Amino acid sequence: MRVFISVDLEGMPYVVIPGHLTLKGTLYDEARKIATRVSLIAMDELHNNGADEIVVADSHGPMVNLLVDELPEYVELIRGYPRPSSMVAGAEGCDAGLFLGYHSKAGTAKSTFDHTYNSLSVHRLEINRVEVSEFLLNGYYLGDLKVPVILVAGDYQLLEDDVKRYAPWTVTVALKRSLSRSSAGSFGLGRIEKELRAGVKSAMANLKEHRAKALVADRPVRMRVVFQSTYFADAAELLPLVRRIDGRTVEFTAANMTEAYGVFEFLCLASGGVDSIKRDQQT
Ligand SMILES: [Zn+2]
Repeated sequence: MRVFISVDLEGMPYVVIPGHLTLKGTLYDEARKIATRVSLIAMDELHNNGADEIVVADSHGPMVNLLVDELPEYVELIRGYPRPSSMVAGAEGCDAGLFLGYHSKAGTAKSTFDHTYNSLSVHRLEINRVEVSEFLLNGYYLGDLKVPVILVAGDYQLLEDDVKRYAPWTVTVALKRSLSRSSAGSFGLGRIEKELRAGVKSAMANLKEHRAKALVADRPVRMRVVFQSTYFADAAELLPLVRRIDGRTVEFTAANMTEAYGVFEFLCLASGGVDSIKRDQQT
């Protein structure tokens, strides 16, 4: 059995301030150690429960967060960004998917680092008229590949707002309970390890007993992006398939989630380009 894991940082326990999230951040080393420890626990328990191959997509920022020293031989680690299919690279051909360290969507009250995919440019993202989190965006992508998401571990609020609502068959493990955008409580790693191992075990049992379903988006996929600024919508509108809805909003239709994800990723990369031009113009 081959299992896919996507690992983000913002929903990891104890990760609460911007200094945890960037390569040069003052607490970045602490955050990557935490993410590595949590990921190794999940890998080990998956292996104990029948996963003989595991693909891990390092999925935050530059996507080189996980430390590699203790990586088991049955694990293939995908690192580095930009790359095709971003946070879900390597999911093709897998039997199940897990998301670790996931966080709430942009605009969620009192939830650490609430954002959707790109905090610089994306104010709100909708798929087929439903506002989505990264869990739902990536879950729909996996659904296109017929891969069910069997477990999500991360911020309690994401699990309540999105995972339980849209994928009630998915096992949830709360790694933190947020008090604000930059504060959260988490139990000691010993307790987190116990809960995560129990979660992985029941997620694998659900999979084997065919209780886990793929999250399938209706086709064609209609994606709507509300940007943080009109700058980004001006750039997005240059693509003929993109329609301008209002100052900050664009919409496009794609044949399936794989194509929609590609266009969305491209629009985010274009936003990064626009932002860098604007910063150059200020100096
Ligand atoms: Zn992230």
